[in-house]
Amino acid sequence: MNALTRAPCPTCRTLTVAIRSENPTAPFCSTRCKLVDLGRWLDESYGVPAPLAEDEDELESLPVSNARRGDT
Ligand SMILES: [Zn+2]
Repeated sequence: MNALTRAPCPTCRTLTVAIRSENPTAPFCSTRCKLVDLGRWLDESYGVPAPLAEDEDELESLPVSNARRGDT
C-alpha cells in the first residue's frame, strides 16, 4: 500500500489527497478551491443579505404602540 487515499476535489474534480495530515486543504486540492466552495455555500445560504443579529434585536425591542401612535 503506497498510494494515499485520493478523492476528486469537490470544486475542480482534480484527484487530490483526502487526508488532512497530508493535505491541510482536504478534501480540496488547494486553498483556492476550498474558498470557491465556501463562497458557493454562502451564496446559496445568504442569497439575500441577512440582517445582523444586532439589528434583529433592535427591531424586537421597538415599542409597537409608539409606532401606531405616530401614525395617527
Ligand atoms: Zn480543486
